[in-house]
Amino acid sequence: AIDVRNLHKSFGDNHVLKGIDFTIDPGQVVCVIGPSGSGKSTLLRCVNMLERPTEGKVFVEGVELTDPDVDIDAVRRRIGMVFQQFNLFPHMTALQNVMISQQRVLKRSKKEAEIIARENLDKVGVGAKCAARPAELSGGQQQRVAIARALAMNPDLMLFDEPTSALDPELVGDVLMVMRKLAEEGMTMMVVTHEMGFAREVADRVVFMDGGVIVEEGTPAQVIGDPQHERTRAFLRRVL
Ligand code: ATP
Ligand code: MG
Repeated sequence: AIDVRNLHKSFGDNHVLKGIDFTIDPGQVVCVIGPSGSGKSTLLRCVNMLERPTEGKVFVEGVELTDPDVDIDAVRRRIGMVFQQFNLFPHMTALQNVMISQQRVLKRSKKEAEIIARENLDKVGVGAKCAARPAELSGGQQQRVAIARALAMNPDLMLFDEPTSALDPELVGDVLMVMRKLAEEGMTMMVVTHEMGFAREVADRVVFMDGGVIVEEGTPAQVIGDPQHERTRAFLRRVL
C-alpha cells in the first residue's frame, strides 16, 4: 500500500508538486495521466525517494519513507520500478541483468538468483532470450527483461513510468499484456501512462494531474468516460 499526504516538491523556484494526497490499497492498480510537465514522473520518483519531497509524507507498507531515520534502501528494495528507458546493463545478458541485484542486494546465491531469474524471464515471455544482450533484443523484449528484473526482487509494489512510450507501436501490446497479467495476479501498481485503453480496462482508479495537483480522480469510467473538469476533458480530447 502507498499513502501520500500533502506532498510538495520544488526544484529551486519551480514548485512542481503542490500538495498531492492519495492512497493505493494492496492489490490496486492506479493509473496516473496528465500533460507533459504536470509532475507525474516527479510524483513517482518521490514515492520511492529517488527525489526527496520538499514537504509532506510518504508511507509505503506503513513505513514512513520521509522519516529521516528510516532505512530508505531497505524500503526501496520492496518497490519495483520500471522506466521508459529500460536501463539494462548493455554488457550483460538478459539473465545476468535479472540476476545481478538479487545477488548484490538480496545476497542470493548465484544458483538461486539464476533459478529466480529464469522463472521471471519465462513469466514475461522472454525465457528464450536469456543469453541475449540488450542490443540483440527488441525494445519490447528489453522492457520485459526490465520488468522481470524488478519482479525478481519480490517487490510489494511496482511503479511504472511510461513503460511503453519508447516502444514501436507494434511492441506496446506485449508489454501491456505482461502488466495486465501482473495486475490480475494482485500486484499493487502505480502506472504513469498515456495508454488510455490500458487505464480504462486495468486500472481500479485513474488520477488526472495537471500543474502539480490532482485535478480529479475516480474509476476509469468516471475520469476517462465522464470527466468533470474542463482541464481533464481538454487533455482527453488530445490523447483519445
Ligand atoms: P512528461 O509527461 O513529459 O514525462 P511529467 O508529468 O512526468 O512530464 P515531470 O518530469 O515530473 O513531468 O516534470 C515536472 C516539472 O519538474 C518540469 O517542469 C520539469 O522541468 C521539472 N523537473 C523534473 N525533474 C527535475 C529535476 N531533476 N531538476 C529540475 N527540474 C526538474
Ligand atoms: Mg514523465
